Order: sequence, then C-alpha cells, then structure tokens
Amino acid sequence: MVHTSLVTREKKTSVLRKGTFGCLAGIPTINVTQGCMLGCVYCYARGYPGLPNPETVILFSNLVQRLPGELSRKRQPVSHVLFNTASDSFQPHPDILNTSIRLMEILLERSISLSFLTKGVIPHRFFDLVDDSPHHAPLISARIGMVSLKEDYQKTFEPHAAAPGVRLRNIERLMEAGIRTEVRIDPVIPFVTDAEEDFDCLFGELSARGVTRASISVLHLRPAIHAQLEKTLPPVSVRLIETMFRGSAWRTVGSSTMSKLAPGAVRERIYDRAREIAGEHGVTLTVCACKNPDIPGELCTDPIDTGTGLEPTRRQMLLPLGGDDTVPEVDEHQNAISR
Ligand code: SF4
Repeated sequence: MVHTSLVTREKKTSVLRKGTFGCLAGIPTINVTQGCMLGCVYCYARGYPGLPNPETVILFSNLVQRLPGELSRKRQPVSHVLFNTASDSFQPHPDILNTSIRLMEILLERSISLSFLTKGVIPHRFFDLVDDSPHHAPLISARIGMVSLKEDYQKTFEPHAAAPGVRLRNIERLMEAGIRTEVRIDPVIPFVTDAEEDFDCLFGELSARGVTRASISVLHLRPAIHAQLEKTLPPVSVRLIETMFRGSAWRTVGSSTMSKLAPGAVRERIYDRAREIAGEHGVTLTVCACKNPDIPGELCTDPIDTGTGLEPTRRQMLLPLGGDDTVPEVDEHQNAISR
C-alpha cells in the first residue's frame, strides 16, 4: 500500500534538462515527477526542497503537451533521453505511468533512443511500445535497480518498490522484448547487503535470465539519508551502518558537498568480492566511477551516443566526478540518488 499523495503542477522550465555531472554530463534528461512514490529509505531525493513533504509527489502535468514542440525547436537534434534521474518512470500511479509511457512513445516515434532505471513494476503498456513496433527495441536501454533478492530487505529499505521476484520478471520480459538490460546494484549497504552468499544468489538469478552486465556502488551517507535511516530502521541497525562511516569526512561527491564515503579499502574489498562472484556467473561487473571518485572505477553502462560529440569516458574525465546527477532546478529536485 502506497501512502504517498500525488499533486500535479505545470512545469515552467524546459522539459529536457542536461545532466551536468560524471558520465551523464550533456545527456538530456526528463523527470516526470518531483519526489518518488517508491520510498527507498536511502534516497535523499525524497527530502529535497520544493517538496511539501517526503510523502507528497508532484507530477508535472504538461510534459506530454510540451515535449514535441521542445524537440522540434532544438538547434542540435536530440538523439538520446535519460528518464527520471531523480524519480522512477514506473511509480504505481496511473497518471505517472501514462505520462512516462506517452513521453517514451513520443521519443520512439521520432527514433530518439531512451534509457531508464527502475525499481518499479513495468506495466504491460510499456511492452506494447515494442511488441507493436519491434524496431523500437534497439532504441531502449533498461536498467533494473536491485541489490538483494531478500524480500525482508526490500520491505524495509525499498518499501513501495517491486518485490525482487517481480524485478526478475521485469528483466525476463525486457530480455524477451529484445531490450538491452543491465542491473544497477546500488547502494550496497555494508553489513546489510554485502554478504558473499547474497551476491552469489543475486548474480546466479541475473545470469539465469541472460544479464551479462551490472554496475555496483556502496551507500553514500548524507545528512538527509542519515535522518531517514534513523526514522525507519531500528537503532541498532543504524548504529551498525554508522560504524562504516565513522571517521570519514564530509566531502563533495557529484553535486553534494555533504557526502560521506565508506573507507576506500572497505569499498574495494566489497567490489573485488562482488566482481569475482559476478565473473563466476558470467556477469561483467563495473564500479561506478562517478560515485567512487577516489578509487579506480569504470563507466557503469555502455557508451550512449548523446550527440555531444564526446564519448562518455572523455566527458567523464573532463567533468567533476559526481553521481548520476543532474543539477537542481527551481521546480525540480535532482538525481543524486543512490539507485
Ligand atoms: S531511489 Fe529511486 S526508486 Fe527509490 S525512492 Fe528514490 S527515486 Fe524512487
């Protein structure tokens, strides 16, 4: 049961916003909502200024109407759009789903490729976009956010997201539709989702469904995330997670000046172990460089032709290392979320 209320608002600024950090720099993005109904406790996008409270989600009601005109007015044609960097395309509300799918349809009709990351239930209507028009499939890149197969983890940390079994079914359906599908294992929470046997089960199930690529990153602690953890988890669990960040200084990661990273040696140990287990299952695991600026990382997804004229690795080197962040707007919070 989702306890979030939806309000609508017209978006006054551009529908498409360019990402400014890390490997998303220069890529046009669309956020359908401000706030997100899936309610992940580690998501600080929920606490962004501009939202009346974390339980309210604002749907931008005029995006479908404005996108075609905006696309046709662009001096440089848009070749790729990234969906919902600070929310989720498939939140369980019919108006949000209708908006996301209609926007995707508008792009696909113009042969503009798109990508999304979701922890929601992908509705049948999305698959109609490719079942009815198979030439759309190569234009879509999907990433499923999933760090654990355990339902108790999902119910505690991602209370309104799809259950792990449903996300596996999403992957199967995406694969059947011929859509390039990867998995984002983010955020791994030390002491909670970093056990070897959990990685083994996860990569085993992903591999069985044909997933060959995934990316990984460990939780960043931010003041808003810390507050949410305290509100949601038993004190003993919060103290356990805190121990991992004790002694870490607040630093700038992406657009946030107030992030704490787990010690580099701890993260590298987690990544090495996960990479080895992933390899045993035939899955190539990459470490998100944007979220791990102090250790060697990689591009966490295949290069996308963004029409910027720079390949992502080059853009990544030129820009501040950040999360999959876009810049906050007056009427739109930013992605900065661990997803
Ligand atoms: S992490 Fe993603 S899915 Fe979860 S609440 Fe935040 S935006 Fe929504």
